[in-house]
Formats: sequence, structure tokens, C-alpha cells
Amino acid sequence: MRPRHKGFDMAEATNFIEQIINEELESGKVTGVQTRFPPEPNGYLHIGHAKSMYVNFGTAEKYGGKCNLFFDDTNPSKEKTEYVEAIRADIRWMGYHWEKEVYASDFFPVIYEDAVKLIKMGKAYVCDLSADEIRETRGTLTEPGRESPYRGRSIEENLRLFEEMKEGRYADGEKCLRAKIDMASPNINLRDPVIYRILHAAHHRTGDTWCIYPMYDFAHPICDYMQGVTHSLCTLEFEDHRPLYDWVGLTLGFSPKPRQIEFARLNITNLVMSKRYLKKLVEDGAVHGWDDPRMPTLAGLRNRGIPVPAIKDFCARAGITKANSECEIGYFEACVREYLNAHAPRAMAVVEPLKLTVTNYEGSEEVDFDVNQLDPEAGTRKVRFGRTLYVERSDFSLDPPPKYYRLKIGGYVRLKNAYIVRCDEAVTDEAGNVTEVKCTYLPESRSGSDKSGVKAKGVIHWVNAETAADAEIRKYDHLLRDADYAGQDFSERMNYDSEHVFCGKAEPALAAAADGDSFQLMRTGYYKKATEGGKLILSEIVSLKDNFNK
Ligand code: ATP
Ligand code: MG
Repeated sequence: MRPRHKGFDMAEATNFIEQIINEELESGKVTGVQTRFPPEPNGYLHIGHAKSMYVNFGTAEKYGGKCNLFFDDTNPSKEKTEYVEAIRADIRWMGYHWEKEVYASDFFPVIYEDAVKLIKMGKAYVCDLSADEIRETRGTLTEPGRESPYRGRSIEENLRLFEEMKEGRYADGEKCLRAKIDMASPNINLRDPVIYRILHAAHHRTGDTWCIYPMYDFAHPICDYMQGVTHSLCTLEFEDHRPLYDWVGLTLGFSPKPRQIEFARLNITNLVMSKRYLKKLVEDGAVHGWDDPRMPTLAGLRNRGIPVPAIKDFCARAGITKANSECEIGYFEACVREYLNAHAPRAMAVVEPLKLTVTNYEGSEEVDFDVNQLDPEAGTRKVRFGRTLYVERSDFSLDPPPKYYRLKIGGYVRLKNAYIVRCDEAVTDEAGNVTEVKCTYLPESRSGSDKSGVKAKGVIHWVNAETAADAEIRKYDHLLRDADYAGQDFSERMNYDSEHVFCGKAEPALAAAADGDSFQLMRTGYYKKATEGGKLILSEIVSLKDNFNK
């Protein structure tokens, strides 16, 4: 029996955040869970945000609570409606549901009123120091800051000046509003932080209504409180800001006061995970766009064919912790591979086709293939075998190394789910390139009823030349080079040769499949099918080989 608290299931804690929530439910400090996912609409969401969603939406779901979509739009110059729409689409794709869609800008009037309240309490003042002067007088980790000469302004003067700031009487940066806390605090964030600044910029939602904007650290606790957020879950870089978050709540008398809890960011090797850099890649044309399949954006992952359950599985396995760390990209790929191995139908395509003629075979026949041998319910399908086939160029060798079990003159190989063939002859062009291999098949060797008595060690895949479709096959490398380059500037780590395009041949079932379907191309990898300008495109989702060491 799970203990119950005021109608809420006290789920078993699987991480430190759930432990905290369980304790609070038990003690009666909270009676339910309300979270928010707080993207800033200044770019597309990336896989790091998937982790934040997993934490915010996932925790709320687990406790039967609610999660809002909260757009942190306190920075008018960088935000765009295009991004708002993309963010919504990405969250829906991830299968999460937000309770309400709210914007920091919805609360601008309340935040303004709260600032006035602080002034009236003698807890905030208008300061004329420039941003540079404020920085210079802030002190260091070992030295206290110096008090602003404007710190002693009367409440009346502060109210008047703040009103004038709002009315647009001053230029950007000419004045600001600062909380009056403690210039000697060991936490620099508490040394009279700026809470309002002047910015004559049009906002994507409020237009020209405001020319003063609240700073994130001031807006955030107020917005959380206004939404009824119980747990404000954010990443570790906000840990030092928590005392300010708490100061705002205490000073303004929030009850119940939301609690900020920080968890470690998701970092992954070989991936750029900052909107600023991702934007640069798009602007520099290093990728085809925000949704380029090599991009770690959710739009990119979707376009790549990465299944949502694999992303969630990865977030769950990477875990929610307090310690920053970097995760191997191979670990993510292993999660994707594991999901696709269980769910993707099998199919055949050859990347660099070499013609193979079965000289003693006439006509054609159907052979059986398991749709997915790991899924007995998936059943079987028919593939037409014939005299003229295509195989991978790399599956034939004129000069085979020892233990080469694929096609070599005089050797035997099984054509997957069909017959054993003996390779008799290679046809070459004037330049010495092999253009065709000629084989004879063993009629008794059909898969499932092999009476040939011949053991073929190698099994290779093939497509029937008469029914095959031309396919463009795209393979990808990582956008960033590996961990050896860690710490170096990202432009030095860029891999400018990360997309490789090949001409191939695919069995007709792939041409007939729906766009967006994923397949395991046997012996090749997991691929997504698409059609571009009438052309069949097979693009790599993840390689077949698991080179990650769990
Ligand atoms: P970026 O540096 O990529 O711009 P950000 O933190 O500025 O990221 P926001 O839009 O402010 O992006 O983030 C929304 C939420 O997602 C925040 O709570 C943030 O902490 C969280 N988040 C962003 N990146 C990661 C990450 N790599 N791992 C976990 N959470 C993240
Ligand atoms: Mg941010």
C-alpha cells in the first residue's frame, strides 16, 4: 500500500526532488504539486530542454499535479513569436500537456506593483549608477561591495523617479531600480541587485506599453507565485540566485511561498547545447536549418526520426541529480537503438550497389521475411527473389583477407532468407573496376528447407534489380568532434564534413512505405524514409553497431 496524503498518491521517490516533495506532502507543507516549464522564446528547444520537460512535466504528472508552459519573455530584444510557436509544437511532440500557457509579460503590471511595494517598504531604490559602475562597486568574492550614493534616497523620491522611469523620461541605462539588501553579503546576488531596467524596445506581446522591464531574478519568483507554483525546478546555475528568490518571496509576504529546487543540466559529448551556438550554426549556414537532422534541437531530432519514448527513456536513465556531469552521446544513441530494435520493421537496401547475376536461375519467386524477428506479432512479409540482384559493393572482394566470409571467387554465401550462391566470376571494366559478379545458386538451399549440405558462413542482404527503387541514402556524423577537443572553442570542434550522401537501391516496400516511417535496414542501420521531389530518401537515424560500453 502506498501511503496517501490528502488525496495525493505519495509516489515512491526515484530522485532527490521527489524525496523533497514526499517529505513536504507528509509534513503537510504542500498539498499538491504545481510546476512550470519556463523556456525563453529566443530559439528552438534542444535535448537539454527535453530533460527540463521531463523533470517539470514528469514530476507534476507523477503526483497528479499540473505543469504550466511559462514563457520567460522578460528580455524583449531577443524574443520572437516564431519561437513561441516552435516551442509549443515541440512540447506537443514530446507528448506533454500544459495546464495553462502563461507569459512573464502577463504579469508585468503585478511585477511593477510589487516593485512599488518594495519602494514603499524602503526595500528598493532608484540608482543612477551606470551598469559598469554597478559592476565595479559590487565587490568580489573576498571583498564586500560599496554602497551606491543613491541608496539613501527617500521613499517619496524613489516613487517619483520610478514613475518617471516608467513614463519614459530617461534613456536606456540612465537609471535602474535596485533591491536594497546587503552590499556586504557573501552572496553577490544579494548586493543590491538590479530588479528593473530601462529598455526602449518593443516587446513581442506588449508592444510599446513598457519601457522598463523587470530582471529575471525579480520576475521569476513573482510569476511562480502568481501561477501557484509549488516547486520551481531549474538548473544548477540558479543555485546562487535562490537566496534572492527567497528574499523576494519573504519580503513580499508570499504564502505559500514557492520553493526553488535546482538539478544538474544535461550535457552530452559531441553536441552543442546552447541556443546561442545553435543559432549561430543556422545563421552561418553550417546546417540546413533549426531542424537539420544533425541538430540537437527537438525539431532536428524529430526530423532525424528519433522516437520520443527513446528521448524520455534516456532522460530517465541519465537521472535527475545535483552533480553536473557530461553524458556520452553513445549512451543516447544506445537508447534510440534499443527502442528501434524492438519497434522498427526490417527491410533491405544497398548503399553502393553492385550487380549480382544468378546465372543458373530463371524467373522469380517470393521468399519470407520476418517483419521484426523480435516481435512475433509483427508477422512475415514476402520479398521477390530473382536472377538479377544488387548487393553491397563492400560485400565482394577480389583480394579477400583471411576469414573473409562474404563474396569471393569460389566462395559460398547465403543471400539473406533465400539461397546459397557460389561466386564464380567478376566482370570488370577497362579500368579494372568490378561491375558485376556472376554466381550460381544451389536449388536445394532455400532458407527454411536447406538440404544442400553446404555451410555458408556469410549471410549478405540483397535487393532485386527488377523491382528495386533508386534511393538517396544519407549518413551523418556528429556536428562536433569528440571529447579530445573538449574545452576548445566550438568553432574549432566543428565537423564540417558531417553529412554524407550515397546513391543506393532499395526494395520496393521502402518506396511504398509512408514518409516518416523508420526501418532497420539490415546490416546497415536504422533509417527514416522520406520523399523529396519524388525521390526516395533514406536517412540515418542511428547506426546499427552499439559501440557504447554500458
Ligand atoms: P540555452 O543556454 O540553451 O539558451 P537556457 O537555459 O537559456 O538554455 P531557457 O529557455 O531559459 O534556456 O531554458 C528553459 C528551461 O530549460 C530552464 O529551466 C533551463 O534551466 C532548462 N534547461 C536549459 N538547458 C538545459 C539542459 N541542458 N539540461 C537541463 N535543463 C536545461
Ligand atoms: Mg535562459
